[in-house]
Amino acid sequence: MIEVKNLTKKYGDNTAVKNLSFTVEKGRIYGFLGPNGAGKSTTMNIITGCLAATEGQVLINGHDIFEDPKEAKKCIGYLPELPPVYPDMTPYEYLMFVAEAKGVSRDLLYNEVMRVMEATQIVDVADRLIKNLSKGFKQRVGIAQAMLGMPEIIILDEPTVGLDPKQIIEIRELIKSLGKDHTVILSSHILSEVSAVCDYVMIIAHGTLVASSEIEDLGQYLVGSTSTKLLAKGDSERIANSLASLPGVTVKSVSKDEREADDVYEYILEADKNADVRESIFNKMVDIGCTILNMDTKTMGLEEVFLKLTDEEAEVYKAQREAEKAEKANRKKKNKEIAEDKKAKEDKDDGSEYTSLFTVSDSSSDNDDSANNESEEDEQ
Ligand code: ADP
Ligand code: MG
Repeated sequence: MIEVKNLTKKYGDNTAVKNLSFTVEKGRIYGFLGPNGAGKSTTMNIITGCLAATEGQVLINGHDIFEDPKEAKKCIGYLPELPPVYPDMTPYEYLMFVAEAKGVSRDLLYNEVMRVMEATQIVDVADRLIKNLSKGFKQRVGIAQAMLGMPEIIILDEPTVGLDPKQIIEIRELIKSLGKDHTVILSSHILSEVSAVCDYVMIIAHGTLVASSEIEDLGQYLVGSTSTKLLAKGDSERIANSLASLPGVTVKSVSKDEREADDVYEYILEADKNADVRESIFNKMVDIGCTILNMDTKTMGLEEVFLKLTDEEAEVYKAQREAEKAEKANRKKKNKEIAEDKKAKEDKDDGSEYTSLFTVSDSSSDNDDSANNESEEDEQ
């Protein structure tokens, strides 16, 4: 349905989107998740044909957004970050205007506008001026506008930003209902929003896709994701060694719990991802005749996954930028050296001419050498 291939967008020196590739399939709700400045709006503006890419290709139902924008855009309804609503129009007037601009035929106009107003529940405010509506209702008008013409795909850029909690819940419900008849892509910097509304998540950080999966499979991106806290009674060295001998288990720490009896210790264990080691831990403890008082297994929550993924990316990004900077400085230094060498050579070859030239141009200077040096520095 949507194919994005090696998309890159540069704003001057700043690369906002880097070699991004992904596909969107029919009938699902996709979440485009990332911190502020990650490149979400840039990507959405390119996919919807509002912004040119520096490199790469976007196909909407097989139509290239850059080469065949008219056909491609017919498949998409878009609500940009700043909704394009006219404050001095009523929702009805505004939607009639947009429907006409989108090419809805005249005899269908009224029905189409009524359809989207009913779906977004704005019929009651259809004749008020948009500027007098609450932010939640303005956003509904924006979503209604995106639905006009029954596009297969609806793209919403941060649709709940700036809304109060009640409005957020209502808009999320509305988006879920859109998912019944449309393929939806929404962007957000709030993980809980994406996990509440979407089937599938793509996480973007610094213009790069760092994760792409079904919401429930997001944990696969973690290595060593389960940590087990064990409270056990017995010889701590023997217990630690026995636990460490279990395949896939690493003993991270052994510590004394002061509130418990002398031979009660706390063991923090880490297991390979996806390995459930609780049973083997239990059996091992029975084997060696020690008692488990408590066992608590924790998998990393979504919030932690998100932070970890975007942080890791930030680290890589920072390292890359620093390497680039160092290389640039190095290159500059080398160029300077080459220029100096060249200059020194030229001066040596034909020193008299330069000296006399500078003497003429800088009559106040009675020292030829200093004039020469100054001018050399200026050139760099
Ligand atoms: P997001 O929507 O995820 O917050 P954006 O796509 O708006 O991110 O921005 C990505 C990066 O591109 C940011 O570093 C931002 O400062 C930069 N950027 C966005 N728009 C422009 C622009 N018109 N000119 C220059 N830089 C821009
Ligand atoms: Mg944005």
